Amino acid sequence: MGLIVEKYGGTSVGDLGRINAVADKVATSRAQGNDMVVVVSAMSGETNRLAELAAEINPLAPAREVDVLLSTGEQVTIALLTMALHRRGVDARSYTGSQVHIRTDSVHGRARILDIDDARVRNDIANGHVVVVAGFQGVDEEQNITTLGRGGSDTTAVAMAAAMGADECRIYTDVDGVYTADPRIVPEARRLDWITVEEMLEMASLGAKVLQTRSVEFAGKYRVPLRVLSAFEDGPGTLITYEESPMEQPLISSIAYNRDEAKLTIRGIPDEPGIAYRIVGPISDAHVNVDMIVQNVGADGTTDLTFTVHRNDYKKSLEILTETAKKLKARDVGGDDNIAKLSVIGVGMRSHAGIAATMFQALANEGINIQMISTSEIKISVVVEDKYLELGVRTLHKAFGLEDGADV
Ligand code: ASP
Ligand code: MG
Repeated sequence: MGLIVEKYGGTSVGDLGRINAVADKVATSRAQGNDMVVVVSAMSGETNRLAELAAEINPLAPAREVDVLLSTGEQVTIALLTMALHRRGVDARSYTGSQVHIRTDSVHGRARILDIDDARVRNDIANGHVVVVAGFQGVDEEQNITTLGRGGSDTTAVAMAAAMGADECRIYTDVDGVYTADPRIVPEARRLDWITVEEMLEMASLGAKVLQTRSVEFAGKYRVPLRVLSAFEDGPGTLITYEESPMEQPLISSIAYNRDEAKLTIRGIPDEPGIAYRIVGPISDAHVNVDMIVQNVGADGTTDLTFTVHRNDYKKSLEILTETAKKLKARDVGGDDNIAKLSVIGVGMRSHAGIAATMFQALANEGINIQMISTSEIKISVVVEDKYLELGVRTLHKAFGLEDGADV
């Protein structure tokens, strides 16, 4: 018994049947004596549908109005779920983000939560209500509705749990936990009983779609007890932990991939101070995030620079780079969006040498060429040709013995 924040994503509330099933689950948890806050997403497909309507009526729709529109998806679900709860005799109340004072900055479409004034929610809970909150939305200082970026309901749930000091935040989704790799690609992938918050953060930002990256950052900052579990079947799910336990710590916990990046190269530029800045500066001035960067100095004293950006920013970046190339009298500019990024993640890497060698050898054995490499303390990422994504993920999963939990 305690205070539990539960979050149900789009597929978990995809139709009335699913909403009824969620209501059953919430009612059961409530009957066990828990105080409850339930955060829900829009019914699956709804946010996309709304975004398409906006784009159709005005391709340059003001971001403020897009947020007014997108936030309606979640408002439908909170009302329907609350009605379903009442039908089960559960005294519940629904609230939009602004009603429970989820205060954010004013960056429409990807606002950050600044704080939550939880007085109203606490009061309701003290009076025996289950509180149902719309995910993905907040309100800025001027009372404008904001949204938190796609997948943002996760962040709403974690932020609510942090503000309320919840005993657990449960993210219910369409998979039964966090896996060693995407089971659609690697049938042998295993559910992890637990994963450290740092590993989860790398996984989320390297492309695993289980949790919104920001929600994991938030959980880490406030040490929110967080669990990912299935809305469709019972099970323990995966617990996010804040301490490493050296005894049980696997070397590598998971393999992540993403297909969302594109690569750009500028060749034959002078090798002198300030050159990287003159290339990357204009790209970031255009609000494009640069991810991996590689620079090579050729024998003739000129240098080449290659970097990756989100695929959506590829065209824009190529135009900017072409302009820069003219100014710098570069030899040429190239680009490629047929790439994939494969990553191995594990806090065990900190204390073990040889992970990179194992990774590169496994890929080499399959004839997979590595185009770029980047590392952090707990991950190694490589860029390969897009067609090798599946083979690469399977190869790495095997190379690190993840199918049976054995260390290499
Ligand atoms: N409905 C929003 C989306 O589709 C937020 C969420 O589902 O977490 O991105
Ligand atoms: Mg989600």
